[in-house]
Amino acid sequence: MFSSSRAVAVLLGISISFITIAFLSLFEGVPVAAIIVTGIISFSVAYLLIYLTYRYFIFNEITRINQLLKKITDEDLKFTIEDVGKPNNPIKKLSKEISRYAKVKEEEIKELRKMEVFRKEFLADVSHELKTPLFAAQGFIHTLLDGAISDKNVRNRFLKKAGKSLSRLDKLVQDLLVISQMETGTIKMYYSHFNIYDLVQEAFDQLEDKADKKSLKLCFSNNCPTNIYVYADKQKIFQVLLNLILNAINYTKESKSTITVNLIEQKGSILITVKDNGLGIPKEDISRIFERFYRVDKSRAKDRGGIGLGLAIVKHILEAHHQKITVESKVGVGSVFSFSLQKGIKEKAFVEEHTDH
Ligand code: ADP
Repeated sequence: MFSSSRAVAVLLGISISFITIAFLSLFEGVPVAAIIVTGIISFSVAYLLIYLTYRYFIFNEITRINQLLKKITDEDLKFTIEDVGKPNNPIKKLSKEISRYAKVKEEEIKELRKMEVFRKEFLADVSHELKTPLFAAQGFIHTLLDGAISDKNVRNRFLKKAGKSLSRLDKLVQDLLVISQMETGTIKMYYSHFNIYDLVQEAFDQLEDKADKKSLKLCFSNNCPTNIYVYADKQKIFQVLLNLILNAINYTKESKSTITVNLIEQKGSILITVKDNGLGIPKEDISRIFERFYRVDKSRAKDRGGIGLGLAIVKHILEAHHQKITVESKVGVGSVFSFSLQKGIKEKAFVEEHTDH
């Protein structure tokens, strides 16, 4: 009965005009014609006012809310909050709240869908990465068992290859473990004050052989301060440095070129940059290289023994320090990876070093 604004307006209009007529009839001497005209006028005015109020303030909004709810049910969430206009009455407000709620849910659904795709890709990547070295090691060992073991030359070669495949597998599992611990927050952070110049030097020493093999030089930039301290988790920052410098070595062609680390004092922080003149990274890949298993060019990374987890680990470690890693790169020119760490205190580093032992 009250299914449309018109029906409601007619009903209320009749009621109001009836009450008006009844009221006027109480007075003696009021002409019948005047009572009828007043009845008609009061009906018309009441009808118009009620109809417009219902139509524009209640029915339209309820229809809009229904449409919104239908969209939410159908998961058709491609609308904007502006669709419902500015809220100047409670129903409009409700309508706006529902659309805002739907917007939040839309974001959640999008995120969940992205995570689902990500999970599937991750599972496929992990299985693929595990399978490759495992099958390789298995192949070498079976060949040896099938008789090749009696040939000393083949035996040594195959055992070395199987060992290399298993080391790759071990590295993959270790890296995955680090990432999963960082993501679940189960890795503890051990903050201390330490000299970052010395730590970079340690990383250089560890990677010197690899750089030498490609005739690459690892060095600090000119005027780089040596007496420079940060407050961070030393072991994890060492891992960050190793990953960045190793990438710089891996993705630079054999040449006489140099990989340069710079340490720049800033207000309250130290900026650390690792620069190479290597292959560079295409613009469209830059935002993705920190994803797990993302490689710019799978073949070029594989040649260099990359698994695609190094930068994901770097990102996680720096996020745990509430810092971000940034990269500037140009294909054929080279890349610069930069991050900041909280400035440390030399005196505290000295005390910590001497209480450690
Ligand atoms: P990977 O184990 O493959 O090196 P990373 O996560 O360390 O994995 O790096 C992801 C990808 O980013 C690499 O496969 C490579 O394509 C690109 N990349 C990383 N560092 C550099 C660099 N210094 N120069 C050029 N490309 C780089």
